[in-house]
Amino acid sequence: MSDLVDLLREGLPEAAVVTDPEVTAAYRQDMAGFCSSGNPAVLVFPDTVDQVRHVMRTATALRVPVVPQGARTGLSGAANAVDGCILLSLVRMNRILEIDPVNRIAVVEPGVVNAALSQAVGVHGLTYPPDPSSWESCTIGGNIGTASGGLCCVKYGTTSEYVLGLDVVLADGELLRTGRRTAKGVAGYDLTRLLVGSEGSLGVVVGATLALRPSPPPQLALAAEFPSTAAACVAVCAVMEAGFTPSLMELMDTVSVRAVNSLAQMGLPDSTAALLLIAFDTLDPVADLAAAGEICTAYGATEVVPAADSAESELLLQARRLSLTAMDTLGTTMVDDVAVPRSELAAMIDGVAAIAERFDLTIGVVAHAGDGNTHPVVVFDASDPEETARARESFDAIMALGLELGGTITGEHGVGLLKREWLAREIGPVGVALQRRIKAAFDPLGLLNPGKVF
Ligand SMILES: Cc1cc2nc3c(=O)[nH]c(=O)nc-3n(C[C@H](O)[C@H](O)[C@H](O)COP(=O)(O)OP(=O)(O)OC[C@H]3O[C@@H](n4cnc5c(N)ncnc54)[C@H](O)[C@@H]3O)c2cc1C
Repeated sequence: MSDLVDLLREGLPEAAVVTDPEVTAAYRQDMAGFCSSGNPAVLVFPDTVDQVRHVMRTATALRVPVVPQGARTGLSGAANAVDGCILLSLVRMNRILEIDPVNRIAVVEPGVVNAALSQAVGVHGLTYPPDPSSWESCTIGGNIGTASGGLCCVKYGTTSEYVLGLDVVLADGELLRTGRRTAKGVAGYDLTRLLVGSEGSLGVVVGATLALRPSPPPQLALAAEFPSTAAACVAVCAVMEAGFTPSLMELMDTVSVRAVNSLAQMGLPDSTAALLLIAFDTLDPVADLAAAGEICTAYGATEVVPAADSAESELLLQARRLSLTAMDTLGTTMVDDVAVPRSELAAMIDGVAAIAERFDLTIGVVAHAGDGNTHPVVVFDASDPEETARARESFDAIMALGLELGGTITGEHGVGLLKREWLAREIGPVGVALQRRIKAAFDPLGLLNPGKVF
């Protein structure tokens, strides 16, 4: 331990190497439930690429595991400490190095907060679309680590679509450059795409070249109330089938609607069993909203409320933004993340309601409906071991249902610790064996974020 700290201090400023157990304990885990975390040996805050390389060379020399961390807002335990590890926090590498409006790219360090990048590129009339709901605190490095999605993915896609190139420190301290600064490029295997979503298990991202888009017009939203979630899901499919491209399409089921209604006194009638939010950032959002609203009415919406302007849109979207906070008022919550083909959304949400009944639990669902990406939120009493066990079982039942419906065990939160056992079920033995060989090629000593993903 003192060897490790002494060696780390040879290449890092004194204050960047933290061993105070109270501080290191505070960095032990991300925001996932049901995930254990180990005792880190040391926490480091490098400020430069060379310092990260020094950390990885030291780790390799002493065979010490390393857990890269961003803001630890992750929901799968992927940033949790393992015993004796170096916690490698990248939050101090938070400089935006370049914004290039001609080539529509930004070059950033990994600790840049998503919202800070959005704000900085906005000044140039540009936007960085991936917008996880945690955007005010999560980092670009963490977004790359988990291939984050967000509310606007239905139109603009996820982080994977916006990472053009990466600077990555490998397990032995070597610096790898992947990808490009150009709009196109197909030279060699696409290592950039492989690294996006690799949850810190293949290398440490120390720089990213990101694609930007021109800022779209402000979006206008509507809220549609439905007497059943099934009806709302059918409306989602009908809007997409009709050829519309909404910039946001979010669904809240009965449990989450009721929770938000009582927290924020939104005045929704008891007959509202589901709330569908649709937004457009097109050239004529008023016309698109009117057409989408008609489709909602045709499929059973009892009320459709279009916003008159951006401020009203934001008010409508508040219900969705408050949903996790509102569910937290009901007990301890556990957020799942299962994506199904959009056409199976109704079966998924109704199936979750049946699982809630079977396990005698409250489970609310909010969904990035346009992507078929559901977030069932299991509510339980953490002080009751029997109920906690039931909650864990219901969580597994939800993933099984997602796979049965042709979906995936995680749409955007990643595998981490939480879903390791389920990965093999989804990708099969051939997929697992090949992925293990890829991991070994990048990290032959198994030092980078061990025990995560596999
Ligand atoms: C309220 C709330 C809302 C959320 N909403 C969304 C949402 O809408 N969409 C969504 O996708 N997620 C969402 N999340 C989950 C989470 O915010 C995202 O996964 C986010 O991308 C994590 O970023 P972070 O900086 O906190 O990373 P961390 O949690 O610290 O790390 C995440 C993973 O990335 C790895 N990592 C971090 N930095 C690096 C690096 N520099 N190099 C290599 N690996 C690295 C870590 O090892 C870990 O595996 C939400 C979470 C909360 C709490």
